[in-house]
Amino acid sequence: MNYIFDIDGTLMDIDHRRHFVEGETKDWKSFISHTVYDIPNTPVANVMSFLNTDYNNIFFLTGRKESQRDITIKQIEDCGYNYLNQGALSPRDDYLDSIKVGTKYDPNERRYHYSEILLMRPDDDYRPDAELKSDLYDKLVGLHEILFKSYDTIIFDDRQSVVDMWRARGLTCFQVAEGDF
Ligand SMILES: [Mg+2]
Repeated sequence: MNYIFDIDGTLMDIDHRRHFVEGETKDWKSFISHTVYDIPNTPVANVMSFLNTDYNNIFFLTGRKESQRDITIKQIEDCGYNYLNQGALSPRDDYLDSIKVGTKYDPNERRYHYSEILLMRPDDDYRPDAELKSDLYDKLVGLHEILFKSYDTIIFDDRQSVVDMWRARGLTCFQVAEGDF
């Protein structure tokens, strides 16, 4: 199976910084800079972690900007994601062999893996989440055509407008919170 996880409000609990963008004046700068204080949304993080085995393919689609890639990867791993437990998506065999023989950990290989499974908002893209994510999904399917043709896909998301988009596209979405914002 393929599983796609949203980050903000789904995998991560961001309630502590929502107030920055809920009032009359939106403080996007603080909303983004407080990302470092997010904590795992435990029920969803646990499900993701359980599903992160060689039999499944886990992906992440987020409206966060590319400039937040490093902190996002750290948070995904803090939620229990292990990029070596990814069946068809695991790093190349020769890389795994190099680990077995004790050669150095290659940060570029890890970064390459995430470039294929964590799709984010380009820094200059200001479209609504639903529109952006629909495009990111098409991009993801293009990158992993065989997996998406061969296996069913379940998406975990919270925001109502985004959930509506997934369902309008005929996809199965487990909505993890009310997401009425
Ligand atoms: Mg969300």
